[in-house]
Amino acid sequence: MKQQPAIHKSSEDLFARAVELMPGGVNSPVRAFRGVGGTPRFIRSAQGPTITDVDGRTYIDYVGSWGPMILGHADAEVVRALQEATENGTSFGAPNELEVELAEEIIDAVPSIEMVRMVSSGTEATMSAIRLARGVTGRSKLIKFEGCYHGHGDSLLVKAGSGVATLGLPDSPGVPRPLAEETITVPFNNADQLREVFSAHADIAAVIIEPVVGNMGCVPPLPGYLEAVREITKTNGALLIFDEVMTGFRVARGGAQELYGITPDITTLGKIIGGGLPVGAYGGTKELMNSIAPAGPVYQAGTLSGNPLSMTAGLITLRRLRDQSIYEQLERASAKLCDGVAYAAREAEVSTVTNRVGSMWTTFFTDEPVVNWDSANNADRARYGKFFHAMLDQGVYLAPSQFEAAFVSAAHTDEAIEKTIEAARKAFVSL
Ligand SMILES: *Cc1c(COP(=O)(O)O)cnc(C)c1O
Repeated sequence: MKQQPAIHKSSEDLFARAVELMPGGVNSPVRAFRGVGGTPRFIRSAQGPTITDVDGRTYIDYVGSWGPMILGHADAEVVRALQEATENGTSFGAPNELEVELAEEIIDAVPSIEMVRMVSSGTEATMSAIRLARGVTGRSKLIKFEGCYHGHGDSLLVKAGSGVATLGLPDSPGVPRPLAEETITVPFNNADQLREVFSAHADIAAVIIEPVVGNMGCVPPLPGYLEAVREITKTNGALLIFDEVMTGFRVARGGAQELYGITPDITTLGKIIGGGLPVGAYGGTKELMNSIAPAGPVYQAGTLSGNPLSMTAGLITLRRLRDQSIYEQLERASAKLCDGVAYAAREAEVSTVTNRVGSMWTTFFTDEPVVNWDSANNADRARYGKFFHAMLDQGVYLAPSQFEAAFVSAAHTDEAIEKTIEAARKAFVSL
């Protein structure tokens, strides 16, 4: 990729300063490159499908801020709208029109959402959704799936995939045992085990699931699995929470629930709906959502919730995603990329399994199908680390962990995809 003169200190220098100032030198763990080794790149700017680091190197980016940047970085229309919005004030702590418009946009797109509450992160959305489920059912237990990540809320940091798994921590100190005990984990893609848990426990408030998992790498649901999860929860009077923070507006405009035709009780959103600014949301039927304060007794609030900047970036992004051809283009580009990468691996006789749903994908260094956490965890992380660095050296920025999904954006041109496949070919050979 094109070289630019470094105008700041190097990533190396900045990281040396950062580790003295911030835990691990970062504000979110996976960024520290511990899953792949080496020094994290400090990013100076981003444009379209690329990011540029302070050392002046530009990379084709498949992290996309971990999902939000579906239109590509610094989209001209989003940037212009944000500049205008900023001039009108950045936060009011009072209702504004943009909140109404973004709520309308979300409700129009996501089949199960009739009413929505904005928050400021995906973590806040899932924590609040669980409180709502417990509040309306009067039950306390929660079921989650091994390897699914739902943010860092106490009840959810049990077998939580991605960042936690990368560090090799099964769990986190600081989560009170009685609270962790309220969370039951079962393997993803196994309906029988879910049924067994329900026959052993009567007080299950909710099941929370990533309908397409992104946080142990991309792991799609097996045919019929989500249908079974829906049926089991309904039969047992537990609410089904689809955590679509990653999949919402990503795998389809209406998220995984549209793609698979399943209606959850509560849906959590984040990432894309903020267009690159901090945001989250949770929604469901009017009846359920009217249980939330001030309409109902379940309390939840936020100083910066619905702030005009996040609402603006989200609104512009979601309006653009009304154009179905964007999803068709993402599908084409992503299929070409994943087919190309898989072919390159076979040519080089490197065992890989590439999972993909729409523009979300992961290449696992393994030779068995990856359908749950156990099979994901069998992947060869050391090999992934070598592959990651071989790609980075050639100007391709993948997720710095085997257990993360990669994302294609609408700004990834054919040329970018072809360059990536060519880089992968060389990287596999170098292994
Ligand atoms: C990213 C993510 C979250 C957490 O969102 P934050 O904005 O990082 O708090 C929750 N659930 C899923 C499925 C995610 O991918």
